[in-house]
Amino acid sequence: RGRVMLQVRVANLDTEHVVVLAEDRTEARRIEAIRRDFTVNVSHELKTPIGAISLLAETMQDAADDPDAVRHFAGRMQQESTRLAALVHEIIELSRLQVAGALPEVSVIDIDAVIDEAADRARVVAAAKEITLSLGGDSGLTVYGDHSLLVTAVRNLLDNAVAYSGPNTRVGVGVKLAGDLVEIAVVDQGIGISAAEQSRVFERFYRVDPARSRDTGGTGLGLSIVKHVAADHGGDVKIWSEPGRGSTFTLRIPAAHPGSAPPGPTDPHD
Ligand code: ADP
Repeated sequence: RGRVMLQVRVANLDTEHVVVLAEDRTEARRIEAIRRDFTVNVSHELKTPIGAISLLAETMQDAADDPDAVRHFAGRMQQESTRLAALVHEIIELSRLQVAGALPEVSVIDIDAVIDEAADRARVVAAAKEITLSLGGDSGLTVYGDHSLLVTAVRNLLDNAVAYSGPNTRVGVGVKLAGDLVEIAVVDQGIGISAAEQSRVFERFYRVDPARSRDTGGTGLGLSIVKHVAADHGGDVKIWSEPGRGSTFTLRIPAAHPGSAPPGPTDPHD
């Protein structure tokens, strides 16, 4: 490809053309590097549950005449398969977002409906952990975008808030219009994230505490997906957190105004 470019450079001395080609190549290289990294990480991450399932199956064969042990190992295998399924689902979702880089179809989205749907799983887990979940703020706000991607983003934030919080705490979702942006803040009183880790939690497969994340069924991809969904909607996601006090994640998406054009995507920086 380098040689082809050189020929084009020589044949066509139109500088603007050459600059555009050079930028295309830098972008192509960047995307190629992301893809390579992603593939290495994915194979590594998939090996963990697959290895566990295989080991459990082997152990189960050895314990075939002990029904309690068989039940125990079967349960563990089921857990690992669920984890594997969640991982595969998120990998597909993230690679779709990375490749597309923009929304396939855009329509006017009702934020109340997004939050209501996004809270379905968190409601169940919160009730089981005696966490009070409250949804509030401005109602009737709309953005341009993709309903199911926005549900995924808010669901990831809410599921995390509940997963990384102890019993008898509060998790809240607040919605408001701030200038031209719809702000969705997910607030918890959980374990929090140190300043050093805050810059890293949006990286793919990054977990502050891998063992804990594994216990909660985490894949390390949730926040990376949130970041991409925000960027594809022309918005962003910000974090405030203090270890031991809790975290607030704020997702901001440009509000839909009647007659205005949908915004273009922003750069998620990977
Ligand atoms: P995971 O699937 O592991 O939750 P995420 O990408 O959603 O992956 O989050 C990355 C890491 O950030 C988590 O493993 C966890 O360590 C940390 N994290 C995310 N949300 C919170 C939160 N609300 N409170 C504390 N830690 C969090």
